[in-house]
Amino acid sequence: MYNFSTALAGIRAGEKLSREMVMALLAAEGRQVSALFKAADEVRRATVGDAVHLRAIIEFSNYCRQNCLYCGLRRDNCSLPRYRLTEAQILAAVAEAAELGFRTVVLQSGEDLYYSSLEIARLIEKIKSRHDLAITLSLGERCREDYRLWRQAGADRYLLKHETADADLFHYLKPDSRLSSRLQCASWLKELGYQTGMGNMVGLPGQNLETLATDVLLMRQMEVGMAGIGPFLPHPSTPLKDAAPGDLELSLRTLAVTRLALPYAHLPATTALRSLSPEGLRLALSCGANVIMLNLTPQSVRNKYLIYPQKADMIEKPEAALEKVKKLLAELGRPLARGYGHAVKTGGGNSGANHES
Ligand code: SAH
Ligand code: SF4
Repeated sequence: MYNFSTALAGIRAGEKLSREMVMALLAAEGRQVSALFKAADEVRRATVGDAVHLRAIIEFSNYCRQNCLYCGLRRDNCSLPRYRLTEAQILAAVAEAAELGFRTVVLQSGEDLYYSSLEIARLIEKIKSRHDLAITLSLGERCREDYRLWRQAGADRYLLKHETADADLFHYLKPDSRLSSRLQCASWLKELGYQTGMGNMVGLPGQNLETLATDVLLMRQMEVGMAGIGPFLPHPSTPLKDAAPGDLELSLRTLAVTRLALPYAHLPATTALRSLSPEGLRLALSCGANVIMLNLTPQSVRNKYLIYPQKADMIEKPEAALEKVKKLLAELGRPLARGYGHAVKTGGGNSGANHES
């Protein structure tokens, strides 16, 4: 049986990870928490370095065919006004991101089949021909052929959080999907050469430390290049409206343990974490995170992309948000990365990239 200290020494020495070891780290309390955060910060500095990568996220449609119990965009939420951006509106937001100096745009939406896969491919080609930008997609579960088409069109990365590694909990939360099919999608993405991101929510009803340890082990087994870890935040128009939100410290502990388990991964200080606490960004950057996503969705629709309430980036203009982040990074002595911020070492499609590429 592991206690915290032997588990920390073991993971840092590169011992094979066991569930018990990961659970002992996740269960850190009191002084152990500072030791865990310090270790994650040291590993982050030694692997991906001090530079912080900025990504511009453009949420181009809030229509969704899925009915995830936790999410405000679920198809049964009739109280949400829906929107879709036109190609011209998306391209204008992308141009603004390029103008502001971003090197990556993240195109995210609900699972919306209104845009055909060919239209998405054409959009990717247009962005690539007009701008020197890396493209991350986050469009949910699709067939292998769609993923292939978009990769061929020039998409570099794909974010497909696995949400929870507990198959029964997954099916309860995502009634139209299965964990196995989501993981099949992630495997296709890797095979196709995408830098692939997974990730989980912390504090989902029915989750425990063992589930969280399984999340970390799954991402390690999949050798993901990116991992998004954030608290679950209840949305008032969903079946989980009365559930408690995820805990800030447990979310940070999970982030820190993920940094130790996946030393080279790109780990964002997620918007959910920043929404839970005004200190979320600073804290996440100090315990393993090295990526920040800023919202470039046009102001006119931004308050309709309500996956959870009180999103941290709801009202800020991109310039103001950027200034605030730059000020914080200066305080923390963390430079802004200049490169694309491709994934390093872990996962498919990353070979040859380094963290300033
Ligand atoms: N439809 C795509 C992408 C948009 S949703 C997909 O599901 O993959 C992006 C992420 O929002 C999800 O992966 C989920 O982790 C997160 N999310 C949704 N509802 C949330 C909630 N109530 N609290 C915290 N995160 C949530
Ligand atoms: Fe749709 Fe993604 Fe929300 Fe699920 S999490 S309802 S797939 S937008």
